Amino acid sequence: MVYKTIAELSQDLANKKISSVELTQQFLDRIERFDKSLNSFITVTADQALAEAKNADAQRAKGEAGPLTGIPFAQKDIFCTQGVKTSCGSKMLDNYISPYDATVVKQFKKAGTVLLGKTNMDEFAMGSSNETSYYGPVKNPWNLETVAGGSSGGSAAAVAAYLTPAATGTDTGGSIRQPASLCGISGLKPTYGRVSRYGMIAYASSLDQGGPMARTAEDIALLMNTMAGFDTNDSTSIDYPVPDYTSTLNDSMKGLRIGLPKEFFGAGLEKGVEEAIQAAIKEYEKLGATIHEISLPHSALSIPAYYVIAPAECSSNLARYDGVRFGHRCKEPKDLEDLYKRSRSEGFGPEVTRRIMIGTYALSAGYYDAYYLKAQKIRGLIREDFSNAFDNVDVIMGPTSPTPAFKIGAKTDDPISMYLSDIYTIAVNLAGLPGMSIPAGFVSDLPVGLQLIGDIFQEPRLLNIAHSYQKVTDWHTRIPKGF
Ligand code: GLN
Repeated sequence: MVYKTIAELSQDLANKKISSVELTQQFLDRIERFDKSLNSFITVTADQALAEAKNADAQRAKGEAGPLTGIPFAQKDIFCTQGVKTSCGSKMLDNYISPYDATVVKQFKKAGTVLLGKTNMDEFAMGSSNETSYYGPVKNPWNLETVAGGSSGGSAAAVAAYLTPAATGTDTGGSIRQPASLCGISGLKPTYGRVSRYGMIAYASSLDQGGPMARTAEDIALLMNTMAGFDTNDSTSIDYPVPDYTSTLNDSMKGLRIGLPKEFFGAGLEKGVEEAIQAAIKEYEKLGATIHEISLPHSALSIPAYYVIAPAECSSNLARYDGVRFGHRCKEPKDLEDLYKRSRSEGFGPEVTRRIMIGTYALSAGYYDAYYLKAQKIRGLIREDFSNAFDNVDVIMGPTSPTPAFKIGAKTDDPISMYLSDIYTIAVNLAGLPGMSIPAGFVSDLPVGLQLIGDIFQEPRLLNIAHSYQKVTDWHTRIPKGF
């Protein structure tokens, strides 16, 4: 049962093949059995989950069930959950019990999903390997010596190891797509503004976007039906009609114009990854798509621009952790300044501290024009590259990550090489576009992800393109050995 997709489980619940309480118990048992080796959960809410499952069964008995009623689910620990610890992977919030639910959490509660727990993540979502988490790294179920990717590594590993059918993630520069790729699952980063950011702890507000992580595009479509939509509590949320994401999944691939940016296939891309991606593209040709070489000339500037903009925004967002209102407070402060200084230096880990310092520097008087303003101009050019590309193609494809999962510890002393993990994903956030990663093969037993990039609000098309591939391949159905 646990190896089924949400679409299948939903049928089984409807046909009374299993109750939500039984299903939830099966996943809780797996978490208990396997998570010691993976470390994918920070908090497991077993009692609450069983109570919610009972409610879901009762609701179903009354004939009031929707497609997600009674489906077990996990939330990345960046989403505020009322009455449940919400740590954001940081010592700073290790003692924080949220007094309210994020909009996304409310939406899933309303849909009747059952919360299994909160998943591990890089501290404040800063990282590409889950190694910056205060709670320790997440292991990749395909090889326990390698990273699960980040920052939504806990969600990716938990889905890949069948500890939950699906989970939420957030993506500021690649944090849904890159861990999805490294763990062999599907993940969608929606258009900026499509999913509410209210109650999603802020890292870099102009880039952050929540989205679903699951095994198949079909499941992601089901989750998007619940997650997408306008929210008056989020000033950047967009009031744009929400389609039924499942209704176009089976549209034809005939005549689909696929753009391959030449910048995504150059130096730095591992050979095995490139071969897997080329093979996936061949599948699309067989389905009737046409291939076009395109150029995104400013791609090389996306990492430098991001590492000015994201730290600048994070330095401002993280100023709220002052030891006064909530979060970690140092012992016996001498005065107010000592309280600020010690609470912050004790509460934040080294990567978060590095980013706050870079951001504060970049925003300080005299440097603003040289760094922040320039980065914003580059952001405009990157957006233009994409909009020019979409004049001629319907979707852009390429690798999600230049390499498969790397060894734990391999990049922790070299931030630049860590930052390069997101070389193909970051531009999508800078442009606010939807992007997706789907499993597309293996390089020596480690999964490879194919990235699909669409124009704004083209999520239905991306899900259709992903689903078409999943109908003719079986990479998304593989089970890591031992799980
Ligand atoms: N790895 C990138 C960073 O460290 C992206 C993280 C994210 O998308 N949250 O900032």
